[in-house]
Amino acid sequence: MNIVQFAKRNKLLAAVALTYAVLFITMPDKAVLSIKNSMYYVIEMLEIIPVIFLLTAIIEAWAPRELIINSFGEKSGWKGNVFSLILGSFSAGPIYAAFPVCKMLLRKGASMINIVIILSAWAVVKVPMLANEAKFLGVEFMGVRWILTVISIWMTAYIMSAIVKKENIPIYREVEIEKINAIDIKEQYCIGCGLCARFSPDHFEIMDKKAKVKKKKIEEEKVAGLRLTIEKCPAKAICFK
Ligand code: SF4
Repeated sequence: MNIVQFAKRNKLLAAVALTYAVLFITMPDKAVLSIKNSMYYVIEMLEIIPVIFLLTAIIEAWAPRELIINSFGEKSGWKGNVFSLILGSFSAGPIYAAFPVCKMLLRKGASMINIVIILSAWAVVKVPMLANEAKFLGVEFMGVRWILTVISIWMTAYIMSAIVKKENIPIYREVEIEKINAIDIKEQYCIGCGLCARFSPDHFEIMDKKAKVKKKKIEEEKVAGLRLTIEKCPAKAICFK
């Protein structure tokens, strides 16, 4: 693959590289500062994201769909809202770590309301932070702020679910069957969890802790199964070509 093909397939990366190149030429001091800041976040993400991918893979593989539907689905009612609030509040890590988890829960049957509650609680209600808040600003301040925040989260979730429907979320990129010829793995993203080999053993195998494509060519009747495997890959490392 030459550099033009690589840039075409990774447009965002190419745009960032170009921006840095321009910055280095026009304002080198700011470019160095920017690189330092970016590296800080890259290192933070490298520390957190593999754990999140593993966690997502474990829930994906072992949590039955019925359990997710009963706990977080459309009919889970106020109990689902409470579970979601607890899950979001007790989760650790930055908000971007919540996105793969929420996407997986959505695919397994969680409702839009509960996904918004999890994401919002993850972002603004952290249980260890509540203790710190009470220590510095007082229990009354913390308690009132927490109650108002939870009410806001709940209202936001119901408004969001009225505006954005599940069908509007690109759970996976639809690919026209007639355009599908083969399958590919971006090895740099693969975390070696083995889900693909488990769900589509004809097409994938694990070697040296990385997934490999056993059979690139896809028969039409295998597309639906492979689409499911692509959905399940926690690292989003598999794609149709
Ligand atoms: S490609 Fe296969 S082994 Fe790699 S992360 Fe995805 S599902 Fe796991």
